[in-house]
Order: sequence, then structure tokens, then C-alpha cells
Amino acid sequence: MRNFFPPLVLLESIHETCSRRADPKAAEAPPNPNQRAEGRFQTFVNKLAHICDYRPKGDTVTALAVLVDENGRVLYLFASNRRTRADLNKTRQDLIAILNLLRENLQSETRVPDPVLNIRLLRQVLAANTARVQGYLSALSKELKSCIKSCEGETAPQDFRTAARALERLLQAIPDTKEAGRNSDEFVTSTIQCIQTVQEYRTLPIQHFIEKQAATSERLGTAESWSNLQHVIGRLLSYQYDVETLISAHHIWGDTELFGDFDVDFLPSSEPYPASATRITPETVESIIKRTPHASEAQLEMLRQHATDLQPFNLDGMLEKQWKRKIEPIVHAEVLLHDWLSRTPGGLQEARFFSNWRYIGTSKPICRLCQYYFTIIATPVRFRDGHPNTYLHWRPPDVRVREGSDVEQEKAFWRSVMDQMKTRVYLDVRRMLVEKATDKKRNDSNTNTDRITLDGLLSNLNL
Ligand SMILES: [Zn+2]
Repeated sequence: MRNFFPPLVLLESIHETCSRRADPKAAEAPPNPNQRAEGRFQTFVNKLAHICDYRPKGDTVTALAVLVDENGRVLYLFASNRRTRADLNKTRQDLIAILNLLRENLQSETRVPDPVLNIRLLRQVLAANTARVQGYLSALSKELKSCIKSCEGETAPQDFRTAARALERLLQAIPDTKEAGRNSDEFVTSTIQCIQTVQEYRTLPIQHFIEKQAATSERLGTAESWSNLQHVIGRLLSYQYDVETLISAHHIWGDTELFGDFDVDFLPSSEPYPASATRITPETVESIIKRTPHASEAQLEMLRQHATDLQPFNLDGMLEKQWKRKIEPIVHAEVLLHDWLSRTPGGLQEARFFSNWRYIGTSKPICRLCQYYFTIIATPVRFRDGHPNTYLHWRPPDVRVREGSDVEQEKAFWRSVMDQMKTRVYLDVRRMLVEKATDKKRNDSNTNTDRITLDGLLSNLNL
């Protein structure tokens, strides 16, 4: 692990030096009736995971799989990045309550029309996600105020003033988040009303106005309020889309075991690594680059040059800052769930999964390191598409020697996995150094004569 962190730390520093990191997007679309059954099921699983991801900042990121035992009984099994047992238990109870609402609705005596079920589910989902929703509402209020301000003024064109009035109405519909904690029932009711207003706005001309302003400000690189507004609206609507997906799933699979006699359970979050495993000695950019695998002296020289090109943008300073961070690597939720499946009877066989669909859903697109890990171990299980971010706080699952297997062989396997992970991280370092140094230089001098392609660098890597 100690060999794995330095290039990761450097990669993080290059990201920080050069640009903002990409923000992992949640799935923010209503159910797509044109998707094939397996795809619809995967969306359903991702949405279930999403409604379990209660708090921002990553601790509650959740992975979920729908398994069946030999008797056909369904088990919804989830894991989260960093949650206490009490918190996991609470999440389990919330998930049971949601699935029970769907189950009850499949019985004729308790069936209600979809719009009624929609509100019931939304109440349940929002009550569980209050912390996150409050954050979205505060952000919505802030961005709306900023957008309204940019639309007003004596000289503003008529369409801007019309837009300001429409946005003002939306601002009025936002529940007071400070009052909110006092009466969560009331808060949930007013949040539902707010989401309904937001949804209504999607069908009005103001929607096109917001989209146009967001596109214009992105193109011109001006204030981000319009894109932020679009983004936060999407986040709020995602709860409505979650609920719509759940409702359509219960119509599609209502006659299967999915909503029959099911169980819901969780895996405990991973233990933090011992401090000795993550204690790393600060290094210079040069010494990390020097260990780049499969690089010729000429290529190393080129990388050094690119790193030097980034120095005016404080690459050394960023690296310095990273060394001071406390690294607390955890097993990401999807890796945790995957590892448990591969170690328990039945392994990753398709018969273990509902409808033989080997899938682990997640509340967020999976990170780059998890993508590398799953590719390296060549798992047959499928996951959500990934996002480009890497995280310092990543670690592989604990090495557990399976009964009957050779200890040394098992250790060698894991060493090889981590070695390949490291090679891929180095490849990213190389790519970022070339791209970012070149980008910076181009922006700086307005010339692209220095642009160097990656072809030469990547040609001797068979990845
Ligand atoms: Zn991950």
C-alpha cells in the first residue's frame, strides 16, 4: 500500500493545481420506458441505493444488490462507505418501510392510485434524507437569489425581468430550512410542495431560459449560478424520479418475489487501516515520477519537464498540502459488497442474483479506483458507469485466506492486484501531467505548438 499512495497523492495534487474536480452526478432522470428489462432493473437498484445515501460528503454512499437464496427468497443487501451499526440499522428500517409500501400496494385491499403512492413514498424518502435535502434547499435559495439579481436592473431586457419574476415565485416556494428541524413532518410536506413547483417549472418557458443562461455562462466562463441552479434543481427532482422508478418497478415485477417475502440486510462498513499502513514519507514530484513503471529515460525526462511547466501553478505547494492530509482509506461500499459475495457460498454465480442479473447498484457513479479494481480482478458483476475522480481514501478489501487455499498464493494475488492498480494510477499521472501541463501552457501563451500527444508515452503499456 505504501507504494500505491505516493502516485495517488501526486495525481491529487495535479488535479488541485489544474482544475476543479469533476462532480459525480447522481442519476437524475425519470424512468425510461424504452429501456430493456435488465437496464430498468439496474436503474431500480441504483435508485434504492440513492435513497439510502442520506448525507453529503461520501460517508453514506451506498451499494446494493438484490440476491435470491436457494428457496427463491429475495434479500436486499446493502453496504455503505462509513456508517455505524446503529446508522446502518436505521437505514435498513427505512428501506423496509419503503419496500413495504410497494408490497402493500400490490394487494388489492390496500391498493391506492399511483399519485397517492407517489406522495407516500416521497414522504418516506424525504424524511430519511432530510440532512441532504436541507442542503439542496439552501443551495437552491442561494443560487436563485444570485440569478434573480443578474436578471434585474433598470436596463435589463424584458425577458430577463419576466424570468426574475418567475424565479422569485420559485424562491417563495422554498421551505425555511432553519425552521425545518423543529417539525420534520411539516418540513417534508413543504419540501414536497417545493419539488412539485420545481417539476412544474420544467414545463414552463423559464426552463429554456435557465438552460440558455447556463450554457452561455459555461461558454463565456462567467458566474456559475445558472449551472448551479440547474444542478441543484436536478438533485431535488432526483427524489421524485427515484419514487417514479420504484412505482414502475412494482408494476413490472409485482408478480415476482421482488416485492413478496423479502429480507433486508446490511454489511458492516470497513474498519480503518492501521496508521502504520498509511504512514508515508513526504516525497518530491521528481522522486515519485522517477518510479514511473515502464517509462524510458526519455519519457521520464519529458514528464519531469511537464511537471516543471506546472510549477508556476504551485504544484509543489499542492503536493506539500496533500502530505499533511490524514489518509484514512476505506473499502468503498461496492467493493465491500462484491468482496462479501465472492467469499460466501455461491460466490458470484448468476443464480445468486435476482433474475440472474449480476449487478451491484450504487448511489453514485463508481470512482476511478473502483473501476480499475473491478477491471483488474475481471469480475463478471456489472456496475454503474464510472466518474473520473480518484480518492486518496481508497483501499482494497482485507486479505482473507479462503479455506483450502494457499496463503502465499492468496497474498501474491493481492500484491499483483495492487501492483496493477499502482501502474494504472501512474498512467493517470502521466496523462494528467501531459494534458494539464499542455493545457496550462496553451492557455498561457495562446499557442499549441507545444502540444504533445500521449501516443509515445502509452505505446509500451499494454493496458
Ligand atoms: Zn470507489
